[in-house]
Amino acid sequence: VDDIDRAQELEQLQRGIALDAARARITASFASRDAGVDETCIDCGNAIEPERMKALRSTSRCFECARALELHRP
Ligand SMILES: [Zn+2]
Repeated sequence: VDDIDRAQELEQLQRGIALDAARARITASFASRDAGVDETCIDCGNAIEPERMKALRSTSRCFECARALELHRP
């Protein structure tokens, strides 16, 4: 095996590893979306109250964080 063959082999191997890593990242992001990230507060990470989700369909903060944000708004 000469050096050029080895280099190509190595490059293919690294490309394969990078692809696997990218695929794993995509799978992980889909998995977390399925786990209900939309119902988790973006500030504290706690689950948003189900009643609140029902009332405000597009809310991304729990009651406490939404209230804190209101209070700190100028
Ligand atoms: Zn919160």
